[in-house]
Order: sequence, then structure tokens, then C-alpha cells
Amino acid sequence: MGGPAAPDSSWKGSLNVSYNIGPGFTDNSSKRKVRMHVHTNNKITRIYNVIGILRGAVEPDRYIILGGHRDSWVFGGIDPTTGAAVLQEVVRSFGKMKMEGWRPKRTIIFASWDAEEFGLLGSTEWAEENARVLQERAVAYINTDSSIEGNYTLRADCTPLLYKLVYNLTKEILSPDEGYENKSLYESWLEKDPATENNSYPRINKLGSGSDFEAYFQRLGIASGRVRYTKNRKADKFSNYPVYHTVYETFELVEKFYDPTFKKQLTIALLRGRLVYELADSQVIPFDCRDYGEALKGYSNRIYKLAKKHEEQLKTYKVSFDPLFSAVVNFSKAAAEFHRRLEQVDKKDPVAVRIMNDQLMFIERAFIDPLGLPGRKFYRHVIFAPSSHNKYAGESFPGIYDAMFDIESKADQREAWEEVKRQISIAAFTVQAAAGTLKDVA
Ligand SMILES: [Zn+2]
Repeated sequence: MGGPAAPDSSWKGSLNVSYNIGPGFTDNSSKRKVRMHVHTNNKITRIYNVIGILRGAVEPDRYIILGGHRDSWVFGGIDPTTGAAVLQEVVRSFGKMKMEGWRPKRTIIFASWDAEEFGLLGSTEWAEENARVLQERAVAYINTDSSIEGNYTLRADCTPLLYKLVYNLTKEILSPDEGYENKSLYESWLEKDPATENNSYPRINKLGSGSDFEAYFQRLGIASGRVRYTKNRKADKFSNYPVYHTVYETFELVEKFYDPTFKKQLTIALLRGRLVYELADSQVIPFDCRDYGEALKGYSNRIYKLAKKHEEQLKTYKVSFDPLFSAVVNFSKAAAEFHRRLEQVDKKDPVAVRIMNDQLMFIERAFIDPLGLPGRKFYRHVIFAPSSHNKYAGESFPGIYDAMFDIESKADQREAWEEVKRQISIAAFTVQAAAGTLKDVA
């Protein structure tokens, strides 16, 4: 937000303290107490999801979902209107194409969710009501919550299956950033936010939660992704924008400060729309399972690095990560082999293509453990979960991570490390089983 939006005198309240934009008081030793009167309503009320379906012409039983919420805490100038408007515009564009006689190969489901702010209620109810159908037929879920939380560069959080598609599409969309005229979105994104592990690619984050994709990704195992414009992460350590969820989230704020030309929001609309279009209309589902293999390798190395801080205990309690490493290698091999077969598949043989498309669709599902994570039975994805310490952030191998978190403070060390071993077994089994689904079917 920089200069222009910093609080000036007209923004100040009337408490007898020195205001600043935080965190905390300017005077850190302040022991000031504030009495607050909070007035809230508690009532039972009806909520409305609005669902639109564009039936697929070739594979009507395969679904791509574009969903985002419509309710807001106050005016919702950014959250969710900058995303709800994108949903409307994408629907309008696809509607225009339909009027001209076009239909996608696969079915597209457009969903405007209600009551997200009250605990992802609308999207979760719809996911539960349709769970059996969705787990058999859903190819992908793209979230369309706020399209901006800053105006610096792109932010993408998605399953590794979507990395290639996101990279390819951002190369085809022009950057809306000043100083990047005639350059691609990919180029400005790469320059402004390269990945930590490999700075020749732009950063893509793990999915956590805090928005409506949760039930679809973390519970049902449907390949999911979200994209939006964000702030400069190096200059701003806060996880949310300053006026997030407040009465100051107005249309005026967006129009005056965040996106006066509306170019950032248009760019996100193009990217979300293109993601849905490619997923719904490409003959072969544009997932790359080799990137899942690479991601798993990174996550397993990371969790092992954390475990190595307890080298003594690993020896004492005979904790080995070898089964997990072995499963990850097997997954990568199966993914490479699958990809070779996919390149040679006879595109004129619809059954052969459908067999491989179904394998692609079910990769994400293969990472679901029906028993769920310890103490969190609705988080069933073994590779990803919302972090137990920050629901908005994603954690990889959450079962193992949580079992090792603060483990030195646990009274019964043997029992604590037995739980780590159990979680490694679940992870290794799940990755190995997922590799099995990629093998040639007979
Ligand atoms: Zn929202």
C-alpha cells in the first residue's frame, strides 16, 4: 500500500494512543488496557449457492469447476468482489461462445458460493452433497476468490499437476505491470518472484486453506489451483493486506489505490478463464504428473532435513525415511513412464485417450487417505494440508510434520517417535499406491 493509503488524520479514531500501522503500539512498554463492546448477531438463516452448468459436448461426465464466494464481511470491495466479478466475466465470455455454437469437450460447473466467511459453509455443503459424484467425475477445481491482495506480481497456489499449465498460460498472457510493456506475465512474475529452490522458475506455493477450494482439494482430492495479484513479499512481511475484512474494503479503495486501470483484475480473469478453458477443452487433460514426482522429492528431502535435527533419536528409536524415499523414486519413475506412453497414445482412439485421461484425473484422488490426518479427519490429503499453525498456509507431508512438531517437549519419547514412524509408513504407502495408478492398466 506504500504512501498514499497510509492513515492520515481523517482515518484516526479517538483513542488516546499514538496510531501507527502496526504491529502493536509505538511504545512497546505500554500496558494500556482497552475495554471493547462487541455487538454481534446470532441467528439461523438461509444461504444460497448459485450453480451454472455448461454441458460438455464429448465427455459430459467429466467436470471442471470454477467456484468462488459472493458473501463478504462488510462491503467486500476486495474480498470477494474482485473475484466474484471475475467469475461473472468468465461466465459471460463462455456464454457468448456458447451462443455462437461452441461447447466445451467436458462439462464446466460455475459456482457462486455463499457463507464462505462463516467457515467455507456454502462450498463445503455442496461438496458434501455431491461428494460421490464429484469423486468419480471431477477433473479440476479452480478457485475464484479475491483476484487482488496487492498490485506487485502474480501469486499462484496449486497442485503440482497444474504447474506446467500455469507456466504455459502465463507465457501467453501480457504482463499488466508498469515497465513490462510487451512482456509476458511469466516474464514479470519470474523477475519479481523467482522460486527459492530454483530461481529459473517463478514461485508457485502449496495450497493451504482459508478459501472455498478446501473441501475439493483437502477432503475430496480434486486437483485444484488459485491465482491472484499479490504484494511484494520481500517488502511486506504481513500475511494479509492492511484493510483485509474491514469496513475500509470498498470499491473506492480498489479504484483509487489497488487497480485504477483494472488491468490486474483483467489479467487474473484471463488466467482463470484460460485455466478453465484448457482443462475443459484439451483432448488430453493438461496435467503433468512428472512435476508431482519432483515436488514429492523436494518435500521428502525437506521433512528428512527436519528429522535430522534429532539424529540421536532417529538412531535410538530406529526411525527410517528410506521407505518414503523409495516410494518417491517409484512415483517419479512411473510418472516418467506414463508421460512417454501419453506422448505416443493414438489420439484417434477415444477409448485409449479416455483411459489415460482417467489416470490423470485420479492421481490427486490417490493421495487421499479415507481415515484423514490425526485429529483432523476432514483433511485427508496425505501430501498437503493447511498448516496446523496457520490455516492459510500449506504444509507438505503434514502427518509427519505434525508428529515431529515440538517433539522434544513430549513426555513419552518412545511413543512420540512411534507416531512419527506410523506417519512415515502412511506417507510411503500412499505415494507407492499413487505410483501404482500410473502404471499401464494391463
Ligand atoms: Zn474471500
